[in-house]
Amino acid sequence: MRERWPSKRLAAYAGVLLTCLIIAVVAGWTAPAARIDNYAYDFLFGLYPQPERRAQSAILAIDEATLRHTPGGARRIRMILAEALELIAAARPRAVAIDVILADQGEDSAEDERLSRAMLATRNLVLPCELTDLRWEDPIPLFRRRAAAIGHIHADRNPYDNVSRQIPLEQTAPGERRWALSLETFRLSRGAAAITESPDDIEVGGVRIPAPREGDQRPMRVRFRASIPVVAVDELRHNAGLARTFRDRVVFVGVTALSYAYDRLKDPLGRNLPGVEIHAQAFETMAGGDFLTPASNLSVLALCLALAAAAGITFWFASGWTAYGVAAALLAAAHLGPAAFFRHGVVFPYFTSVSAAWLPIVGAGAFQYFSVRRQLRKSESDKARYQQAIHFVTHEMRTPLTAIQGSSELISRYDLNEEKRRQIAGMINSESKRLARMIQTFLNVERLSEGHMEIKRETFPARELIEACLARVQTLADRKQIRVFAEDISEDAISGDRELMEYAVYNLLTNAIKYSPAGTEVRVATERERDRLRLSVRDQGIGMDARELRNIFKKFYRTKGAENSGEAGTGIGLSIVEQIVTHHGGRIEVASSPGRGSRFTIVLPAHAAMTASSHVRKP
Ligand code: ADP
Repeated sequence: MRERWPSKRLAAYAGVLLTCLIIAVVAGWTAPAARIDNYAYDFLFGLYPQPERRAQSAILAIDEATLRHTPGGARRIRMILAEALELIAAARPRAVAIDVILADQGEDSAEDERLSRAMLATRNLVLPCELTDLRWEDPIPLFRRRAAAIGHIHADRNPYDNVSRQIPLEQTAPGERRWALSLETFRLSRGAAAITESPDDIEVGGVRIPAPREGDQRPMRVRFRASIPVVAVDELRHNAGLARTFRDRVVFVGVTALSYAYDRLKDPLGRNLPGVEIHAQAFETMAGGDFLTPASNLSVLALCLALAAAAGITFWFASGWTAYGVAAALLAAAHLGPAAFFRHGVVFPYFTSVSAAWLPIVGAGAFQYFSVRRQLRKSESDKARYQQAIHFVTHEMRTPLTAIQGSSELISRYDLNEEKRRQIAGMINSESKRLARMIQTFLNVERLSEGHMEIKRETFPARELIEACLARVQTLADRKQIRVFAEDISEDAISGDRELMEYAVYNLLTNAIKYSPAGTEVRVATERERDRLRLSVRDQGIGMDARELRNIFKKFYRTKGAENSGEAGTGIGLSIVEQIVTHHGGRIEVASSPGRGSRFTIVLPAHAAMTASSHVRKP
């Protein structure tokens, strides 16, 4: 029992930690956790901006002024696009991506012709397509012919906060997949013929883009940077020299005018960006190799497990300020860890990291706190009961001691006749023997519970044992007017330590008398059941309920009824009885109900009836 306790406690402790860990990981998948992760992500974005370097792209913007200064305004967008391409042609950009849908026939065919001609003169032209009603809306053939590639213009908007943190590198309509506009532009700018893909990444012109497939998309996190050069078409009209901005760069042409750009999106830095800039930003992420990859599920789980294990080990082996100090360090690591990962381009879920540290730490701390408190309470009550037991024992010993003392005084003080002296000497002798027996029993029981004692093996008839015990309790029974008697005693023998067995049966009998009202009966009986001998003590006393029955064999436990009965007791008798019986290879059974009496049965291995001569007990 004593060795099993720490491992049981350890199992409970591990269970608490595991539950905390599971809750932390599962909670990490919920919508509120996703929101918190996003806040943390955006915060880190602002905290660790990308180092400034020369942008490899520039935006050619169709802004408010451009529209205002164009007769017909937004309706003449194709004319503006043609003009824009013409204005930058001399700068020979590496590639040009247009973010204006050109899916229907224009009102003015002359304008379409002009745009088509301007496109023809443009190197590495990428045109947009869009998914509507599950099919691709492509540019009309007149323009499509001119394009080196077609790319989709969809961005991923987070459903919770409308912020765009990533774009799908691929998008599929039934039967046809398209790469993103920015990816196609990147490919052409690198002079790569093809895009090679694997389940976890995409390779273009020697650059590996980490973008594991999720469903039918491949989201890529965009590393939004501070600024990408922007030149408006209207500015170019007045200052043709500005076209040099586009030299050797990739150009993204699109509408930025607030009144016309319906595709504005929020970025993690809190800016409101037009769609064309999102494409340019995605391109810059690829061109600069500034990828952010989500931490794999396995590594998240491993890290959470490590945090929980560290919390568990800390609170198991350390306590007080040491434990709190280590726990604080763990919490700091869990809070700062995602930032460190972020700096190395890995997105680690903040909520999961933090909750995988907090929950196990709180769980482990609480477990230790409550278990220490419970142990303290238990040891305090054990101590109190132990003191009671000591009182009782000393009280018990005082009776024979007083007798011995008194008798010895009688002998020394008075001149007694021979017979009287012999009588007193006999009494001193028997009382001191009783005292010695009492001490021996206590010592035996102590050694028995420590497992140090070998049990004496003698064989004696059950009847003898019962009769000796009945004789010893007779006075107690008479005083309470309780009739104690034996019935159906079998001729079987018991093998074991006679003194200890006597102690056990005597204890059951005194209990039966103590916890019964006057005028009732206590009967002892034996019964042979195959190779077992059942020795039972039945009373008509106060009884016990089921909960009490589960506890009576615990040291120092006493029922309410026993406490109120006015009978002295220590609550250790039955625990000793149980130990004695189990050391004899037997067990003890109890049947009882409140107010209806109890039956205690000792079940022992039986031995066949003995011959008359072997009954004789050695003096
Ligand atoms: P105690 O010294 O208190 O009698 P024991 O270990 O012998 O200690 O018994 C433990 C408790 O079990 C008792 O205090 C009492 O509450 C209950 N008990 C034992 N025997 C009986 C019985 N025959 N009838 C009712 N209650 C009993």
